[in-house]
Amino acid sequence: MEFIFDALVVGSGLAGLRAALEIPENLKVGLISKVFPTRSHSGAAQGGIGAALGNEEPDSWEWHMYDTVKGGDYLTDQDAAETLAMDAARAVYELEHMGVPFNRTPEGKIAQRAFGGHTRNFGEGPVKRSCFAADRTGRVVLDTMFGKAVERKIHIFTEFYMLDVIIDHGKVAGIISYELATGHLHTIWSKAVLIATGGFGRVYKTNSNCFTNTGDGVYLCYRNGVPLEDMEFVQFHPTGIYPLGVLVSEAARGEGGVLKNGIGRRFMPDYAPTLVDLAPRDVVSRAISTEIRAGRGVDGKDYVNLDLTHLGADKIEEKLSDISSFARIYLGVDATSEPIPVTPTCHYMMGGIPTDLNGRVLNVNGSPISGLYSAGEAACVSVHGANRLGTNSLLDLVVFGRRAGRAMTEDIKSLGAPTPVKDSQGRVEARIKAIKDGKGPKPADLRTKMKQIMTDFCSVFRNQADMERGLREIRGLKEQYRSVSIDNKGENYNTDLLDAIELESLLGLAEVILVSALSRTESRGAHYREDYPDRDDHNWLKHTLVMAGSHDPEVSFKPVKITRFQPKARKF
Ligand SMILES: Cc1cc2nc3c(=O)[nH]c(=O)nc-3n(C[C@H](O)[C@H](O)[C@H](O)COP(=O)(O)OP(=O)(O)OC[C@H]3O[C@@H](n4cnc5c(N)ncnc54)[C@H](O)[C@@H]3O)c2cc1C
Repeated sequence: MEFIFDALVVGSGLAGLRAALEIPENLKVGLISKVFPTRSHSGAAQGGIGAALGNEEPDSWEWHMYDTVKGGDYLTDQDAAETLAMDAARAVYELEHMGVPFNRTPEGKIAQRAFGGHTRNFGEGPVKRSCFAADRTGRVVLDTMFGKAVERKIHIFTEFYMLDVIIDHGKVAGIISYELATGHLHTIWSKAVLIATGGFGRVYKTNSNCFTNTGDGVYLCYRNGVPLEDMEFVQFHPTGIYPLGVLVSEAARGEGGVLKNGIGRRFMPDYAPTLVDLAPRDVVSRAISTEIRAGRGVDGKDYVNLDLTHLGADKIEEKLSDISSFARIYLGVDATSEPIPVTPTCHYMMGGIPTDLNGRVLNVNGSPISGLYSAGEAACVSVHGANRLGTNSLLDLVVFGRRAGRAMTEDIKSLGAPTPVKDSQGRVEARIKAIKDGKGPKPADLRTKMKQIMTDFCSVFRNQADMERGLREIRGLKEQYRSVSIDNKGENYNTDLLDAIELESLLGLAEVILVSALSRTESRGAHYREDYPDRDDHNWLKHTLVMAGSHDPEVSFKPVKITRFQPKARKF
């Protein structure tokens, strides 16, 4: 079948939903998601959304902006950080008015708690800035916003997979989608298309992401000639439950939890004397990995302890109940009386599809691609620079999702009807046939190898020799992938086929991460090179762009936007 829309939103996480809700009802809006909308990863967000409301202690948006820039190791585009911090309070009150049940202070205001890298008065000490609903903030925000989308009668395609973006003569015409239930392909023509398909933490073995975070939208844009920005910046969250990687939110440390090594000693004061356990994630993850490498993991193993026992059962039950139940369910650990074993886990992608402040996707020369938009974790505005602060992603989704919805509404007036492209489904049909006819390796085997390679050669610590080996091995897997095979050749609910298709995205993005990381010969934020341990502003205060070349990916650079805060040494 074919559909025609004014605006099509791909992805029903918070970025996609917020954008869709911004587009007026007189325009025809479609929303597609490969899972039921409320199963999007946004629903897993635990700790909260940042805004300098000042409800618990004095705060200001300028401090929030400063923290975002410094937290991002000065790679953050400062116009984006200013937009984010200035708009935060409005965005949180908007959620409150939609009906999000935030925790409250005794006098009834939105309650706030401390989070990594968020400080008072330009770095003096932690400040309570995260607005939260216990430790299931994403769940309640997603459910609330999905309700609004249903109320608005937005046309939602559930369990439809985007398998290609149609970009013709530099202009978007729509997408090709695959209906999981039937195996049918549908072309969805649209004047404007927003890519809000989220991140791709599934590239790594230990990660906190849901199974759907395979970066399809990011990869499809890349394959269709869109550059990808700052892909070397992969965030490892310090506290994934060992050995699974399931997240224990920073809220646990925001509420007073502390990290201890194998000899029972608090080690964060050695690494970050002012913010200690609440230093930004890159700093804490490196500290944990350094302790483990020095043999100070617990029982000589690859983990340290997160101790919440002194918080008391009541506080844990009231504010960290999901987290404590994860510890109980996955490990049989009772967080009120025993520490939780934790280790860094791949969590968030700072890089992605380059956009301007209004979600318009930019080509390699910095000009917008007509009709193409992106928001959320798939996009790189770049508001998180080299390392995102906790609570700033939920904020990014609602601030920049809304702006993208506005820009689409504005641009649609002059975009004109999409021009159908002949044989638009041909490439996708050929791909599906090739996978069904394949005689080579199974997707699961290649995927397991890919995750191990990325974990071994391009994680918290990196160096040239390891990454070169990683790149060779990933390219070897890409070669093997050409003959990938599946057992299920059927039409209905063929998740085998989609696993194989998602693997192409993951392998393509793994290659881009390695190429970007090899090119950046300095250490900045989440990208730490053992062979280049210092930040090098003279040569590297710039964003990386990677384009799909005729053979290998091609690397170029673009300047960082610096407005208020000149780069300084980053101490916490
Ligand atoms: C465990 C966890 C806890 C977190 N906690 C916090 C927190 O407390 N505060 C904070 O600020 N951030 C937090 N984050 C980060 C934040 O939740 C994510 O970055 C954010 O939710 C991403 O939102 P999104 O809208 O970009 O995409 P997602 O919510 O990931 O949604 C992606 C959407 O795209 C759809 N999609 C993907 N591929 C396709 C395709 N091919 N075809 C059709 N649809 C497709 C999916 O179905 C889904 O609807 C957390 C992340 C994790 C993993």
